[in-house]
Amino acid sequence: MSNDTIRHDWTVKEALAIHELPLMTLLFRAQTAHRAHHEPDAVQLATLLSVKTGGCPEDCAYCPQSSKYDTAVGAERMLALEDVVARARAAKAKGATRFCMGAAWREVKDGPAFDRVVDMVKGVKDLGMEACCTLGMLSADQAQRLKSAGLDMYNHNLDTSKEFYGSIIQTRTFEDRLRTLDNVRSAGIGVCSGGIIGMGEATRDRVAMLVTLANMTPQPDSVPINTLVAVEGTPLEAQKPVDPLELVRMVATARIMMPKSTVRLSAGRTRLSREAQLLCFMAGANSIFYGEKLLTTPNPEADEDAQLLRDAGLRATGPTHVDASIEDHAHEINPTDAAHRFAHGDAGGASCASCNLDAE
Ligand code: SF4
Repeated sequence: MSNDTIRHDWTVKEALAIHELPLMTLLFRAQTAHRAHHEPDAVQLATLLSVKTGGCPEDCAYCPQSSKYDTAVGAERMLALEDVVARARAAKAKGATRFCMGAAWREVKDGPAFDRVVDMVKGVKDLGMEACCTLGMLSADQAQRLKSAGLDMYNHNLDTSKEFYGSIIQTRTFEDRLRTLDNVRSAGIGVCSGGIIGMGEATRDRVAMLVTLANMTPQPDSVPINTLVAVEGTPLEAQKPVDPLELVRMVATARIMMPKSTVRLSAGRTRLSREAQLLCFMAGANSIFYGEKLLTTPNPEADEDAQLLRDAGLRATGPTHVDASIEDHAHEINPTDAAHRFAHGDAGGASCASCNLDAE
């Protein structure tokens, strides 16, 4: 492993220059950075569960869980503690080492619902898994409580650049997000934060988001890169799918600027060919969400992932937590069909990026 100094003084101009390198040069540089800090054949498997789906008061334009849009995802009751622990156990049996739980909340509110989340974190930790949450905005006290319960990572995505942010979300600010990330970091919980491409932003917005993330001290432990899955009923329903090579460029740029972070392929991955996914791994992605629909039905998606890893000579890694580091928001794996479709983009969108449920 290299001890290279991590830079926190990136400029948008520099990031754009990296992003626009000839693709083979970009891939070579990204793979070189990757190999300096990570085992080249290791891919972390993370599993997501939405513990409270839909009915969110926020207005994130990509999100089918917003109560402001008429989508196939309706408001559901919060899952019971026992159900969540059972799903975590099943995920572990399928090879997942990290279990992410997400709630479609604007913010965490103290009370029985938050108490239950705290117990869920303890339940996941008792299984020997890394625990991650994405619950929306979080106060310093709440972050401390989650830390005491054993939480390893908290996901809260920036979504996009500060400049483009207002085109996507009006119900909370970019600064609100940074404040939550500060609270998480100060509590000693790992920071997971990334964003979504394909929402109509310019390339400059994409790399500006990476600049904000890379210039944090320390850099986020995990950086989920989501591609928009345009969901019927949301304001972004007519957005065209992102060219997979744009995702490859984004992953590679993130890897070069944040060489030690875990870079995760999040929402939108099921639209990628095997070859495109492998290019993303070549570009430095080293984590995926894995194993949706773990309990009730067979899991062909997980089988496909396992086959892809085998064919490429990649291997799933064990727990990777470092004390103040790593992971993602969980709306993507849900026990309901609606949320399952959401997870796969059939009817749903990108991961909740604010709570970000991955987004990723
Ligand atoms: S992305 Fe998260 S915060 Fe935004 S509407 Fe969806 S569930 Fe709510």
